[in-house]
Amino acid sequence: MSLLKWVDEPYECKRCKYVKYCKGKKPFSRRCLKCKHDESPTAGTMFDKCKFSLLVAFHIVFKICSKKKGMSSLELSHEFELRQPTCWEFKWKIQQAMQSSKQHPLTGEVHVDELFIGGPEEQKRGRSKGNKRLVVVALEKVKEGVGRAYAQIIEDASSKEFETFFKSYIDKAADIVTDEWAGYLPLRKEYKNLKQIPSNDGKNFPDLHIHIMNLKGWLRGIHHHCSKERLQGYLDEYHYRYNRRNNMDTIFHNLIKKMVANKPIRLGTK
Ligand SMILES: [Zn+2]
Repeated sequence: MSLLKWVDEPYECKRCKYVKYCKGKKPFSRRCLKCKHDESPTAGTMFDKCKFSLLVAFHIVFKICSKKKGMSSLELSHEFELRQPTCWEFKWKIQQAMQSSKQHPLTGEVHVDELFIGGPEEQKRGRSKGNKRLVVVALEKVKEGVGRAYAQIIEDASSKEFETFFKSYIDKAADIVTDEWAGYLPLRKEYKNLKQIPSNDGKNFPDLHIHIMNLKGWLRGIHHHCSKERLQGYLDEYHYRYNRRNNMDTIFHNLIKKMVANKPIRLGTK
């Protein structure tokens, strides 16, 4: 942990900017040789003021990124004998770290469609949304089958909402395929290779259809009380794992690195 923290960014005293240090009082902490300020390795990271030991924190991160379906806060609270709200909050932090950097847009053939979470699939573009949330998802097709995927909550199925999503996640030169919904049409100005074909109830997009079914099944299965506010976190968590399913040897290390590099966050401040 302390190695991770001070390798990418060399030690510099938070208080007086002095760069020489000795061992601090607490394990792994560093003490400034000038002003004697002790800095813990978790200060300034997502592990700041963690309510349990770092070892447990790492273990939870490991479980969440390496188990195929992750773990709910309830399962975590049983396994680690912690209060459920504590697990819930920590898991929320992990999900924030799982947000896409938006630096690696999908390329090649990319299929796009929307789905409703929290209600029947009919009237996908109907006027009344009720408690449901509309989500747009893009899936990359590769030679071996399917590549990466991203999903994002959108307010409605308008081209303006799609545009924000496309800009974040899809390469301009990609061969995008959507169904014949008019909301995608204006995007052809920027995405020259966008093609529209009939959906035929999803049958013309078999891989995307399977992806959506799996995503919905996962959300229903272990997250019974996924609130509207937290849905994006779950979408990010699902796709973080999904997009790294062939890099399981590095998934844990990379996520810890992100959590160390990210600033501390508190529920309700974001
Ligand atoms: Zn100092």
